[in-house]
Amino acid sequence: MRNTLLSIKDLKTYFYTYVGVVHALNGVNLEVYENEWLGIVGETGSGKSVTAMSLLKLVPPPGKVESGEVMFDNENILDKSDSEIRKVRGAKISMVFQDPSSSLNPLINVGFQISETTMWHQHLKKPEAMQKALEMLERVGIPSPDKRMVEYPHQLSGGMKQRVMIAIALSLNPKLLIADEPTTNLDVTTQAQIIYLMKDLQKEFKNSVILITHNLGVVSKTTDRVAVMYAGRVVEKAPTREIFKNPKHPYTIGLMATLPSLKAEWLEAIPGTVPSLLQPPTGCQFASRCKSVMDHCWTENPEPKQIDTDHWVECHLY
Ligand code: SF4
Repeated sequence: MRNTLLSIKDLKTYFYTYVGVVHALNGVNLEVYENEWLGIVGETGSGKSVTAMSLLKLVPPPGKVESGEVMFDNENILDKSDSEIRKVRGAKISMVFQDPSSSLNPLINVGFQISETTMWHQHLKKPEAMQKALEMLERVGIPSPDKRMVEYPHQLSGGMKQRVMIAIALSLNPKLLIADEPTTNLDVTTQAQIIYLMKDLQKEFKNSVILITHNLGVVSKTTDRVAVMYAGRVVEKAPTREIFKNPKHPYTIGLMATLPSLKAEWLEAIPGTVPSLLQPPTGCQFASRCKSVMDHCWTENPEPKQIDTDHWVECHLY
């Protein structure tokens, strides 16, 4: 029996732009269990990153979480005030972003940037915090960590900057780490090193990880479960092995077919584009691209259906 760490119910986030209201999240339902890796996949604009930002109340204006519930530690995070949510960020839920260069302060040395977190959250004195920062740099595999402590972000490679971000994110041993495309800007070898590092650290820290990515290869090798997002909804979620072997939603089936394979005839792009989230169509959002579309798909929005233990899908076919 797994324990649920985080549970998202009917989460809706809109952006009030000058051309109209963008329905970025249209009722996301998702849970994260303790000690698991959950992959969130989907095309650009499907709502992966907005989901992560919404659950930490980090949606930038003109965006706004409209409604829904994010239960964590028996509390609805969305009810928390700004000062309360600041205590959750970093300490209980932390995030690693795609571009470490824009997350690190170029004017502050690496050691101080890591130690700031423990000084603020755990009220450590500076020498203790610096010692902890040094240990974290060692733990994330930065060579000569004592030298790196006094260096600035521009003196580090992209891979090392991302290791520093991971050190900052894990320095308070959060229960949940959200990694939003953490390896996108790195070369292939460094990507693999960062992913293996995160896997090692997850075993040691025993936290849960949400990995947001468009890289299905990485998802297949690292995650326990996968949630597939499309047009602001989770259209399918299942254990990783199950979703790769037995995808059910026509969008997931199309997504899996885009995976490079030795069988060239399997290579197939999903025709069409994601519908405008400014004026989302009625019914199933995937209808205009779906090979299995039926009449009622155009008018009735499919609700989540459980089709197997831990396998859910939003589609009128089931
Ligand atoms: Fe296709 Fe209909 Fe299922 Fe949507 S609900 S994915 S249109 S079959």
